[in-house]
Amino acid sequence: MKNVIFIAPPSAGKGTQSAILVDMGYVHISTGDMLREEINKKSEIGLKVESIMQSGKLVSDDIVYELLKNKLTNINKSFILDGFPRTLNQAEMLDKLFKELNISDYEVIYLDITLEDALERALGRLTCECGASYSKNIKEFKPKVEGICDKCGKKLIARSDDNEESFKVRFQTFMENTLPIKEFYESKNKLHIIDTELGKDKIALEIKEILK
Ligand code: AMP
Repeated sequence: MKNVIFIAPPSAGKGTQSAILVDMGYVHISTGDMLREEINKKSEIGLKVESIMQSGKLVSDDIVYELLKNKLTNINKSFILDGFPRTLNQAEMLDKLFKELNISDYEVIYLDITLEDALERALGRLTCECGASYSKNIKEFKPKVEGICDKCGKKLIARSDDNEESFKVRFQTFMENTLPIKEFYESKNKLHIIDTELGKDKIALEIKEILK
């Protein structure tokens, strides 16, 4: 199976699509999750990045890259990369790392969404520590039992950076950095753009088609 790099504004549905791919045997690598893990562990990295993440700004390329490199070096399954690269510099770092690790079989999927739609989703988003993501207000994404994860039964929580102020910074930061990343992968013939208005199921079908 081809590896996947997801590039999408926050709340575009990467988590939902990643969960579908995980059910097909993929490993989900999310740099945001890895950083949140460091914060929960109260590690040196966690303490350094907590306030930056809370504000919606980007953590330094080097910190995220080191965490990611460790993970990718030890992986032996097809993977979904979610949240990296977020800058052109990160895309170049990743390209070098892929070369070192002999990874060439991948596609880049860009999920396109407007700020208004993404904000509405973010303000209703609930997540589980197992990685599953739900919505308080979009019917198709509500959990079966309010506040409880369908998959593992744990309590759902709202991410602390899913407030309007932080979300707008995250969205804006993403947009400012993304155009050169898109061009970078377009020039390698790796970029596929999918409109999120298609809805969860059609997006999943398109992704399967791309990864064939
Ligand atoms: P996410 O879970 O992907 O929305 O990421 C949450 C936050 O983690 C972001 O707003 C950034 O502060 C930080 N983060 C995650 N991935 C990266 C990255 N590749 N580069 C810099 N910061 C990142």
